[in-house]
Amino acid sequence: MYPSISVTRTQKPAAKPASDASLGFGQIFTDHMFVMDYVEGQGWIDARIVPYAPLSLAPSAMVFHYGQAIFEGLKAYRQPDGQVALFRPRLNFERVNQSNARMVIPPVDPDFCVHALKELLRLEADWVPSAPGTSLYIRPFIIATDACLGVRPSHTYKFMIILSPSGAYYAQGLNPVSIYVEDEYVRAVKGGTGFAKTPGNYAASLIAQANAYKAGYVQVLWLDGVHRRYIEEVGSMNVFFVIDGKLMTPALNGSILPGITRRTVLELAQTLGYATEERQIAIDELWAAAKAGRVSEVFGSGTAAVISPVGALKYEQDVVTFNAGRIGRLSQQFYDTITGVQYGQLADTHAWMERL
Ligand SMILES: *Cc1c(COP(=O)(O)O)cnc(C)c1O
Repeated sequence: MYPSISVTRTQKPAAKPASDASLGFGQIFTDHMFVMDYVEGQGWIDARIVPYAPLSLAPSAMVFHYGQAIFEGLKAYRQPDGQVALFRPRLNFERVNQSNARMVIPPVDPDFCVHALKELLRLEADWVPSAPGTSLYIRPFIIATDACLGVRPSHTYKFMIILSPSGAYYAQGLNPVSIYVEDEYVRAVKGGTGFAKTPGNYAASLIAQANAYKAGYVQVLWLDGVHRRYIEEVGSMNVFFVIDGKLMTPALNGSILPGITRRTVLELAQTLGYATEERQIAIDELWAAAKAGRVSEVFGSGTAAVISPVGALKYEQDVVTFNAGRIGRLSQQFYDTITGVQYGQLADTHAWMERL
């Protein structure tokens, strides 16, 4: 049996967005949120669903000073019969514990978290949009709350889940993007926090992202922090290449975020009979292969976009393009298959979906 979850309903429900067409991303929040607290010696306590509202925290709360925090991201999808379903939600809460272990945050019970999320979603089901490509974005996160400036792991934490109706990622269709290979800044190093979903990794990446944006690129492709040579990942996505017909992605090495979409693409590729390889991929190896016309597709994978085709890469002074800037066959097939299962249009043969 799970701990009981108390529910306090809002007295002032917000008006739902009038149209799914202009939802954007991460700007609108639903009426309720899930919260539980951790107190050393008592564990995770006081699980509750309460009205979405600002928090009251001491200015000395540890999260503000030393960044001890983790987060997750997943989505709820409206199904053709009107029900709501989640995509592999247990994997997100297992990853919470991998991130927690690195950040010295006590573990959660992944099964209870999925149960709590479903309880919250049952209350908020009307907020799940239904226009094509839209979803309810789910943001679980944990922050350290001890009111203390000493540098040590906190003894108290807050775990929360907030929900945000989100528009279609590809309003204009799946157009390949141009990406800047970052050769000055690094995101993570082996032994650091790269594999954990922790806010500091993003804070450290903003400068490169901003520079790339100014130069006309939408994202950064990160190289490893030691040799500045081996490909790691793209912004908030893992990265795949089709080289000589083989699907390749950098091996998980401790500095790369282990994406659930990455794992799904690899599993799907096996089912479809495509050769896959997870290994170190050097930028000079990719460049030589691209110049020789052997790289037919490049794409990013992540919860937000699912598959994001890459049409061009810039590295130092040189630009290479892939598939004449059009989306590749495998990229399209992975996108269509994964989103087809998520929106209940294709049979869920891998048992990826969980209904409320
Ligand atoms: C969340 C994230 C990803 C993608 O993970 P998914 O589980 O596929 O959404 C990739 N890289 C980084 C840095 C991330 O934070």
